[in-house]
Amino acid sequence: MGSLEGKTALVTGGSRGIGAAVAAKLAVLGARVAVTYQNTKPEGVTAIRADSADPDAVVAAVEEAAAGFGRLDVLVNNAGAFRVGPLEELGREEFDHTMAVNVRAPFLAARAAVKHMREGGRIISIGSNVAVYAPFPGFALYSASKTALIGMTKGLARELGPLGITANVVNPGPTDTDANPADGPMADTIRGLTALGRFAAPEEIAEVVAALAGSAGAYVTGASINADGGFTV
Ligand code: NDP
Repeated sequence: MGSLEGKTALVTGGSRGIGAAVAAKLAVLGARVAVTYQNTKPEGVTAIRADSADPDAVVAAVEEAAAGFGRLDVLVNNAGAFRVGPLEELGREEFDHTMAVNVRAPFLAARAAVKHMREGGRIISIGSNVAVYAPFPGFALYSASKTALIGMTKGLARELGPLGITANVVNPGPTDTDANPADGPMADTIRGLTALGRFAAPEEIAEVVAALAGSAGAYVTGASINADGGFTV
């Protein structure tokens, strides 16, 4: 019997990359899993089309998943916007979109999910290795959005602790996905900034999320956990 048998989970942005690996891992451990996606409908999993930039769609997706399961145990805020570049190229539209997907959506999803959670509920948000460490120019907006998740998570942890619901952030390091391929133009530079000298596989980030979702996470809340290969050491 899997360690998440009987649990239910919603993973935002679960059609590819880290989100897909998280969804697969939670399912292997026995959880019933639903994912959201924007364009790429994944097979073999309950999939809800919901653009995280649309606040109504985010809340509706949580409600749909919770109604389908009868409750919700685990919310993984994974969908992310990755707009980086020189300041002059990041204007109001880019700011609003990044904050909508990376901050507003996790906030609204958490708010909606809590109503369907009971003691033991887990809110896990995917942050970033560049939340508190900025080794490259061009990341002011993206880093701001991911740092916001750390503050949000601490606030959620404090508020939801009395309900037995935890909230944590997992900060991946460079992870081999479509958004950051291990054979991309910057890959060697990025690899060189990690202590381990390599990218993560999405499955390695999923392992950390799954641990938090399970009994290992019972007394972990408000934490910001780096799974970054030593990128920020
Ligand atoms: P990918 O680009 O590989 O996958 C993104 C996933 O999110 C897809 O399932 C995509 O859906 C979905 N998605 C994107 N935008 C939206 C949206 N507006 N609404 C709903 N779903 C959306 O990204 P990663 O797996 O690399 O990134 C996942 C998370 O990890 C992000 O929050 C990212 O910031 C973070 N991260 C990634 C790192 C890396 O090196 N890869 C490092 C640090 C953090 P669809 O398939 O339909 O487009």
